[in-house]
Amino acid sequence: MDNQELYDITIIGAGPTGLFGAFYAGMRRLKTKIIEALPEAGGQLGVLYPEKLIYDVPGYYEIKAKDLTRELVRQIMRFPVTLCFEEQVEALGALLRDVVAGMMPFVLEARGIGAFPNPRAPRVIWLGLQGAPEAMASLHRMHAGIEDGVAGLGFPRESRAFTAHLTLARVRDRQSGAALAKVLEANRDRAVGSFTAASVGLIKSELRPAGAVYTTLVEVPFGAGV
Ligand SMILES: Cc1cc2nc3c(=O)[nH]c(=O)nc-3n(C[C@H](O)[C@H](O)[C@H](O)COP(=O)(O)OP(=O)(O)OC[C@H]3O[C@@H](n4cnc5c(N)ncnc54)[C@H](O)[C@@H]3O)c2cc1C
Repeated sequence: MDNQELYDITIIGAGPTGLFGAFYAGMRRLKTKIIEALPEAGGQLGVLYPEKLIYDVPGYYEIKAKDLTRELVRQIMRFPVTLCFEEQVEALGALLRDVVAGMMPFVLEARGIGAFPNPRAPRVIWLGLQGAPEAMASLHRMHAGIEDGVAGLGFPRESRAFTAHLTLARVRDRQSGAALAKVLEANRDRAVGSFTAASVGLIKSELRPAGAVYTTLVEVPFGAGV
């Protein structure tokens, strides 16, 4: 955060405890800020059970979790509470800047179509990425730096090996597996072209019924900050 403003209280987490804590701090005229990792308030009520009825909140015969969240947020709006969402994005952006600060652009070749978890039962179709030994070393160094950094921020480590690839499509229709396996086999070594990798991005992926929506949250050019 660039903002250096001082607060009497900073609450970590906009779950019901943090929201009510901020309300009470406001009642005591304390200048309060809430920092929340997620893009919205509510904690478990919003993420795990927004539609569930809750019966043990004083003053309510019953109330849906999402409605309780709305009321808790409305309650703190009596006071000038500052809410900061998605703070992990800031931390991840800073991490990416550190990791690629000393990197130079490198060339990768898009070659070979494959599938996860395997070509016989494809769920995700990808295009492999290859390159000269120095390029692959740069890519793997970047991957290791990011993996170590995000683990340090509390994210679980990826247990599967890193396979450099571009995702082309997701397969919904499992019946098409045999036909797709033939197409994948025929294109196993297909060369598509090469490009220069010169930046790293933090992409938000929202899986919706009509397909995934991708939003670039942060993009850092290699060598930025050198
Ligand atoms: C299925 C289910 C049903 C439940 N039903 C009821 C019920 O009927 N009645 C009842 O009283 N209780 C119920 N509970 C329990 C209730 O949801 C929890 O007690 C309550 O959510 C705890 O509130 P909290 O604010 O302490 O934590 P949480 O709701 O867990 O919120 C914590 C917030 O802090 C954020 N956070 C954590 N760490 C950081 C960080 N380092 N930086 C920034 N943000 C951070 C999280 O993203 C989250 O938004 C239920 C729980 C579940 C799972």
